[in-house]
Amino acid sequence: MNNRVWLSVDTDDFQFLPSVQGHKSRSKGKSIDLTKYHPSETLIQGFAGFCLWMKTNDFPVTIFVISSQLENEKFRTLLSDIIEEFPDRITLGCHGYDHRSWSSFEPDVEKFSAMLEKSNQLMTNFDSSRYRKWFRAPSGYFASWMAEPLKKAGFVVDSSINPSFIMNYKYGEDNHKQALAAIDSSGLIERPWKCKNGLPVCGPALFKFPLSINSRIAWKNAGEIIPSNQVISEVESSNQIDTFYWHILDFSRKNGTWIPSL
Ligand SMILES: [Zn+2]
Repeated sequence: MNNRVWLSVDTDDFQFLPSVQGHKSRSKGKSIDLTKYHPSETLIQGFAGFCLWMKTNDFPVTIFVISSQLENEKFRTLLSDIIEEFPDRITLGCHGYDHRSWSSFEPDVEKFSAMLEKSNQLMTNFDSSRYRKWFRAPSGYFASWMAEPLKKAGFVVDSSINPSFIMNYKYGEDNHKQALAAIDSSGLIERPWKCKNGLPVCGPALFKFPLSINSRIAWKNAGEIIPSNQVISEVESSNQIDTFYWHILDFSRKNGTWIPSL
């Protein structure tokens, strides 16, 4: 029997992509001025599609937020509107401050801890009742040294690990098994991304051929979605669950008609 399923989306926007900024070798753009951030039209369309899809089901969703986006009024409105529309179905997690791919750089506990503190503040000020100390490393760039600072900053759950052999280049000096061991010994609960046949099925894998074929099968065969009144207790428990994630931006695909095949 399939595990029950926890659904989550990330609030990535174009300017935060590793190809643009925040990655030691992949970033080709100029470093961004976060004070000038404004949600792209595509992200705005994504929020609209997300809202329409939410009306077709009763699934709870955790939104992992890039906390610097909360410094923009339009973004806050987009997020508040979704929460107002579905008050009992949304929880919030932290997706970093500026979407830095931490493990592509040398370890920097001090800087990482300061980022977590700032993010916690922004998230708590925005909506303390829905914010859970749940972390997802931007673009899945996680290194073992990040586990202890997360725990110290009060985080309970991490959902950064893509436990597929093809993603092992994202863990700094380590691989995903070593990162999982570090998370485990720190006392954090890990909620790794769903894989099938050893391959990723979440995020970009949904759209990259041929991974997309394997992904579609995994999503079609997903287990029962955990009901909203059990999300927090299940995610923070030791029970086995399946973690599925995608991006709010995805709802802008196919002229705004894309929906996850659940
Ligand atoms: Zn992201």
